[in-house]
Amino acid sequence: MILKIVQTGDPVLRQGTTEVEPGRIGSPELQRLIELMRATMLDAPGVGLAAPQVGVPLRLAVLEDRAEVIAALDPADVRAKDRRPVPFQVLINPRLRVLNATPATFVEGCLSVAGFAAEVPRAHTVEVKALDHRGQPLSIVASGWHARILQHEIDHLEGTLYLDRMNSRTFTNVLAHPGRRS
Ligand code: ZN
Repeated sequence: MILKIVQTGDPVLRQGTTEVEPGRIGSPELQRLIELMRATMLDAPGVGLAAPQVGVPLRLAVLEDRAEVIAALDPADVRAKDRRPVPFQVLINPRLRVLNATPATFVEGCLSVAGFAAEVPRAHTVEVKALDHRGQPLSIVASGWHARILQHEIDHLEGTLYLDRMNSRTFTNVLAHPGRRS
């Protein structure tokens, strides 16, 4: 089963999220939501998905950047973006801290802004503290593309879209201009 991904303009993407009660993490409902978000992300396909994107205003996101996907990309582009495989990660109640604010600017898209992409500056290195799918504390230090995915997904939990951070003159319809697809 795949969930419907809501598109920009839907208020759920802008209203922010409430924390997941730690006691709820082991519940069948939350575990099922995590599994459905994973399936929906892989089907899209995407490298991250936040709960508001499936209409659920909870502080929860999933991400995964698969080696076989990266292997099919232009190696020079992969190197420039510092994109390396990221195993499936569940972030519950994540908090993000910028460790190196030096901006890296690349074209980025969003499953909730389907058909478009733009250049978005993101911090080089971030630290994320969260709970994992079992409710265990998780601490991640990430740079490069992994840091970008984390910033993008945690922005969703605050009701922020890349549209708020992009270099707006680079906003492009990737269906009409497929060369710009990230
Ligand atoms: Zn997004």
